[in-house]
Amino acid sequence: MALRQIRELGDEILLKPCRDVKEVTPRIRELIDDMFETLYDADGVGLAAPQVGILKKIVVIDIGDDPHVLINPVLLETSGEQRGNEGCLSVPGKYGVVTRPNYAKVLYYDEDMQQRELEGTELLARAILHELDHLEGKLYVDMAEDGLHNVEELEEENN
Ligand code: ZN
Repeated sequence: MALRQIRELGDEILLKPCRDVKEVTPRIRELIDDMFETLYDADGVGLAAPQVGILKKIVVIDIGDDPHVLINPVLLETSGEQRGNEGCLSVPGKYGVVTRPNYAKVLYYDEDMQQRELEGTELLARAILHELDHLEGKLYVDMAEDGLHNVEELEEENN
């Protein structure tokens, strides 16, 4: 396993749509392992392949329950609404206020290319929707209702 460089805002690869994964090759497995290592190293809850420079539909998420690998995810259903702070490993030190559905259900393939479903509410729904946006070249910064804020300001508020 190895850490991968996280691409940051301004890197055009973050704005490009991703291609489907047709087969989980050893290289793809290595990419997934590396994505988890990079995610945990950066203390994040989700990472999409384009964030490490690979335009493939792969997302890893871990909000502290279980690690999830979503290959070729497709959004099936959303409902409700949540408004809250959101950040991105590609936009370090910043956060924004983003309103999203409070529930999301996705169809995806696991590492054995078995079709599965994942549903979540609150933080898991937010993470799923944020990461799926990455696969379409969309960033939360364009949805933040009041622009971006510095994380330090948030930490001061909490203290
Ligand atoms: Zn992100």
